[in-house]
This record gives sequence, structure tokens and C-alpha cells, in this order.
Amino acid sequence: MAKSAEVKLAVFGRAGVGKSALVVRFLTKRFIWEYDPTLESTYRHQANIDDELVTMEILDTAGQEDVLQREGHMRWADGFVLVYDITDRGSFQDVAPLKSLVEEAKKPKSAPLVLVGNKADLEHARQVSTEEGERLAAELSCAFYECSACTGGGCASEPFLELCREVRRR
Ligand code: GDP
Ligand code: MG
Repeated sequence: MAKSAEVKLAVFGRAGVGKSALVVRFLTKRFIWEYDPTLESTYRHQANIDDELVTMEILDTAGQEDVLQREGHMRWADGFVLVYDITDRGSFQDVAPLKSLVEEAKKPKSAPLVLVGNKADLEHARQVSTEEGERLAAELSCAFYECSACTGGGCASEPFLELCREVRRR
């Protein structure tokens, strides 16, 4: 039997942007309203990606780790999902510094990442335009998705699958 590929992904972003909701949506196709914000978990998930069985390990960070722990998480991961909340400009401004930390931790390699603007169902409360998200993704040279962990709209699993592909391509 062919050995399946393993890909380690980590999800980063300000507390409350919906990291856990996105991961749970991806894994279960469901939305869980309240998820313990202090919980840090790693999930294993097998997916058939382009006819290849890939075992994904997904680290859902809690944002409470100290500098050393965070660096450890960043070293551990092969690919990164950077999440902001389209209704929270501060969370958007957190993304570029996070990317710098990733770069620092992965030096001299560059790690694949994807940018996700979550809570796209809350259009009425939007603070960050789609164009701004696209521009930031171009600056970070990564794929960009707007989605909703809540409704599953905007294909909430696509970022994880695409990141996996990107990791496998390297
Ligand atoms: P985390 O701290 O980044 O892991 O964020 P959580 O997954 O715990 O979500 C924080 C809050 O945002 C919770 O109350 C969720 O129900 C809510 N939330 C997460 N994703 C969405 C979304 O796509 N739309 C809406 N409306 N609320 C969301
Ligand atoms: Mg969480």
C-alpha cells in the first residue's frame, strides 16, 4: 500500500476571527457557535486531494502561547492559514506582522500560506473590503479567500485544500 503524504498546517490569527470555527467547519461541515477560545488543538484528517491520499495535521492555535511556543508552532508547520475577520480591521492589520514572524521562523525557506477573510456573512458590519484583502494577498504572494465558517459560504474548505496542494508542490 502506498504511504500517504503528511502535511502539517497551522492556523493563525487574532483571537475571535473564527479559526476554530473554520477548522471545525472544514472537518465536520458543521458550524459550532461557541468554541472554547483558550483551547489549542491538533486534528488529523485524511483527504483525497487530486487522487492522492493526504493526511493533514491541523493545528488550531489559541493565541495565548508565548513567543517561544509560537515560534515552535511555526517551525512545526509546513503551511499556514492566516485568518482575519472582515468585520475587524485590527485583525486584518495583525496579518502582515504574523507573516513576518512566519518568515523569521522558517528562514531561509519560505513557507506556503493562504489568506482568509472570515465572517463574510456579516456584510453589514464589514470593515475590510474584498479589494484590500486581495491587495494584501498580492503583497504576501499567496492565495486569498473570503468565506464564512458560519454559512459555509465562499467554500470554507478550499483554503485548506489549496494550502495542502501548495505544500505538496514544494
Ligand atoms: P478563534 O478565536 O479565532 O478560534 O474564533 P472562534 O472560532 O472561537 O470564533 C469566535 C466567534 O466568532 C464565535 O462566537 C463564533 O461563533 C463566531 N464566528 C466564527 N466564524 C464566523 C463566521 O463565519 N460568521 C459569523 N457570523 N460568526 C463567526
Ligand atoms: Mg479558537
